[in-house]
Amino acid sequence: MQELMHHFIDNRWVASRGDRRLAVTDPYRETVIAKVTQGSAQDVDMAVSAARHALPEWRAMGGKARGDYLDALADALEARRDELETVSSRNNGKPRAEAAQDLSDAIACYRYYADEARRLEARQGEAVDTGEPGLVSRRYQDPAGVAGLITPWNFPLVSSAWKLAPALAAGCTVVFKPSEVTPLPEQALAEIALAIGLPPGVFNLVHGDGSNVGAPLTGHPGVDKLSFTGSNAVGEAVMAAAAKGTRNVSLELGGKSPILVTEDADLDLACELVLAGFCYNAGQMCSATSRLLVHHSIAEALYSRLNTAIAELSAGNPQLETSTLGPLVNAAQRDRVNAYLAIAEEEGLVATAADTLALPIQGYFVAPRVFRDVPLTSRLWREEIFGPVLCARAVKDDDEAVALANDSDFGLVATVVAGDAARAEALASRLTAGNVWCNSYQVAPPGLGWGGMKRSGIGRELGRAGLAAYLETRYVTRPA
Ligand code: NAD
Repeated sequence: MQELMHHFIDNRWVASRGDRRLAVTDPYRETVIAKVTQGSAQDVDMAVSAARHALPEWRAMGGKARGDYLDALADALEARRDELETVSSRNNGKPRAEAAQDLSDAIACYRYYADEARRLEARQGEAVDTGEPGLVSRRYQDPAGVAGLITPWNFPLVSSAWKLAPALAAGCTVVFKPSEVTPLPEQALAEIALAIGLPPGVFNLVHGDGSNVGAPLTGHPGVDKLSFTGSNAVGEAVMAAAAKGTRNVSLELGGKSPILVTEDADLDLACELVLAGFCYNAGQMCSATSRLLVHHSIAEALYSRLNTAIAELSAGNPQLETSTLGPLVNAAQRDRVNAYLAIAEEEGLVATAADTLALPIQGYFVAPRVFRDVPLTSRLWREEIFGPVLCARAVKDDDEAVALANDSDFGLVATVVAGDAARAEALASRLTAGNVWCNSYQVAPPGLGWGGMKRSGIGRELGRAGLAAYLETRYVTRPA
């Protein structure tokens, strides 16, 4: 049994001050595969001190040298790719192919920000047009300081890359608290930091749950910048903590995203995209497109194809290349999804496709469900379920589809499946979402931004905006 009893602080494995251990599970075998220490506020304090101490040197090093470290980090992930895919798939329950995609996304993110770090250095001190004759100004971008980074369990190594890579590129030093549910893949980041010789204190990792480590981290006065990905309830607590000391905060929170299918859409493509939108990662995606708005004239045909496609999924051991649907991450998450299914029953909603797919007898599996004609007031229609549950409605035209798509507290992403690109883009321009995919799978290349409108969060990750989240801008102005 693996035991993670140490934090990674100042490039040393530091014994945890916490005396409790949390179980880490394999959701397919329903077994405990590791124990992770429940860290404490003292551990957080030590990590923040190390990060503060390391900040001046890391900042002064400049973007070019920091970029080289990020490239080394990407190389090290690449070298350990096979092992990390196994660990991630085992700890999270996601199919092997999806874990492989995660690794590719994470590596691409470190490489992108290696380049961004170099570009940042090249931009330092560039002249700014003051608009006033006789006045010249130069712009510099400085690291925001010590960054506290907190991630969830659904995309281990990816959510962390989206924070770590830009933070380190910007010149911030970091204290990272991974989800206590999936500490095993994230632990590799500390091993890699040591292996590539990252200067001590630049990257610190503290294990533990939200109340024992997350809250002390967000409340620590030595942390200048907070970046959090997770649920809305916790996101609001993080924002409240950031208010004390007027500290900068980025939030990537929940979603309840729509997928629109017009009457001229390619039905095969529509079926593929709808299925992926609520079954990839067993639906445990902030970006799940779990509300289907389909033109009434093709609704029956699409439902019928969806039923066939669901029956053809292969639910099984995530480690097998053939598995296309894994279990949910743990018993608590399965129970949470089942609670929504119980609400559906109370509301008299009838699911299709629940019994067409054979599930393994072990593992925290939930069969994909499609609920049709879900009332707009239903909790299933309005709340994030975080499981393989699709709520569908047939609509009379594009206007109704757009109105229902935007009728949500959230605004993270959307997908449009339409007969041609122009029509899809025209619909996309009317949607309230940070990313809209037209006739496309969900893609998040590092050069684009990621983040939501409304309650889906504050700020953007990835792209230039993702770097700016860890920078402060300084203008130096003088007479010409
Ligand atoms: P969660 O909010 O329970 O936990 C997220 C992280 O916060 C974990 O590391 C947890 O230990 C920590 N945490 C818990 N309480 C805390 C506290 N009081 N102070 C500080 N940290 C605390 O979320 P989860 O169950 O791990 O993940 C699922 C949620 O994350 C979903 O709602 C999903 O939509 C959201 N999510 C959003 C995005 C996005 O990009 N918008 C991406 C992935 C997940």
